[in-house]
Amino acid sequence: MRYCFIGLLLASFSAPALADPKLDALVAAYPDTLASYTDSELVWKDGTRMPLGSAVERPFTEMLDHATIRDQFAIPYPLATAPFQPPGTNVDPGRIRNEAFFLKMYGDCRKGQVLSNLREIAWLPRHGGGTVRATAINGVADRLAKVSEELDALPADLIRYLVPMSGIYNCRPIAQTNRLSVHAFGAAIDINAKFGNYWLWSKGASGAIVWRNQIPQKIVEIFERHGFIWGGRWYHFDSLHFEYRPELIALAKQGRPND
Ligand SMILES: [Zn+2]
Repeated sequence: MRYCFIGLLLASFSAPALADPKLDALVAAYPDTLASYTDSELVWKDGTRMPLGSAVERPFTEMLDHATIRDQFAIPYPLATAPFQPPGTNVDPGRIRNEAFFLKMYGDCRKGQVLSNLREIAWLPRHGGGTVRATAINGVADRLAKVSEELDALPADLIRYLVPMSGIYNCRPIAQTNRLSVHAFGAAIDINAKFGNYWLWSKGASGAIVWRNQIPQKIVEIFERHGFIWGGRWYHFDSLHFEYRPELIALAKQGRPND
């Protein structure tokens, strides 16, 4: 009888969520906007609640096309190992994105909500990179300015990969999909397209995807240190693409405590 009463008492409160390292990393990565989570919802600082989705693993294409917030963590992001290794089939860490999450975080460019948040920064000023604009939300522009400062100090032979850069904000879907690119949120950057490799344009004669990359590791490491993941770590690779996903980098570091 007594247990029954305690059970009723517990049921009458909304139970706190069991700690989930992935969701902890998510909330910690976006302290200005995210507050907490329950077993089933992500709680934003403005009181908005979003479904986290099921923790059960789903087929890759289903996750890609209809990602839940939990799906964003289905494939762990690997930090630098030298030399780079071609990712296994469909190993696309960070490419699975819940669009509602990003729209809420950065605004909808199709409704004119992103432009007003863009902030200008100098891109490799010692090498004439000009000014670029990235979202100020989550301090992305500030972090990109730090990336630029470190890249600007790299040896001269590495600068050609970075100047001219190929764009940040662009209100467009990902090639051959309906899904918005992270460029549509002003939170992704493409470095010099001349040295980029993209899976769709790099299929072998058999149609199989053959991983290719020309971007040096030193460049990738600088972006990653500031919370930007690299598209060269995807099976469906996009080697000139970097996007701000500090939660994935933080989780990768937890797996490598000596970093
Ligand atoms: Zn890109």
